[in-house]
Amino acid sequence: MKTNIKILGIFSAVILFALLAFKPLEKKVIVIDAGHGGQDLGAVANGVQEKTILETISKKIKALNKDSNVEIVLLREGDHFMELSERVSIINKLNPDLVISLHINSSENMDANGVQAFVSAKKEFYEKSKENAEKIINEVSGENLLKGKIAEANFYILKNSNCPAITLEIGYLSNNKDRVYLLSESGQNEIATKILESVK
Ligand SMILES: [Zn+2]
Repeated sequence: MKTNIKILGIFSAVILFALLAFKPLEKKVIVIDAGHGGQDLGAVANGVQEKTILETISKKIKALNKDSNVEIVLLREGDHFMELSERVSIINKLNPDLVISLHINSSENMDANGVQAFVSAKKEFYEKSKENAEKIINEVSGENLLKGKIAEANFYILKNSNCPAITLEIGYLSNNKDRVYLLSESGQNEIATKILESVK
């Protein structure tokens, strides 16, 4: 009898473990905020517009995602203007796990290059934002896009989103090497794949 109880106990533990192991994971929601749009072109260099590259890369991130536990939400899918307040209001309704505001840098110094990230110093989401920024910047940088710094910034979207948020500056449009990479199909695919990998 004692043995039966013991076996029953082990059996229940196994069942419980199996149930816990197969409990569906909660979906991770990642918002990709392609900067600019419409009359707001963002950075322009050699006839290339920041808003267009950002829209293309954002769509690639969503299209590449085959993970049913991750949902990619694009804030801007077409070439239209969006107020920052409109973006934040959508973000706060979605309450996502992370917002990545995508931008491309530009500088009068044509040597300036590489990928950089910004986070808000706002206490409650600082650690999570910084942790994500480090992960993304490590993944996206490489021989094509040099690794830049993570800095604190008071950007509207970072400051007003009630969730972890980062602004990612994927290279400099003003730098020849960065621009060639950002404009190439293979470069855009690589950036999109790496961003997606780092948020899974
Ligand atoms: Zn921008």
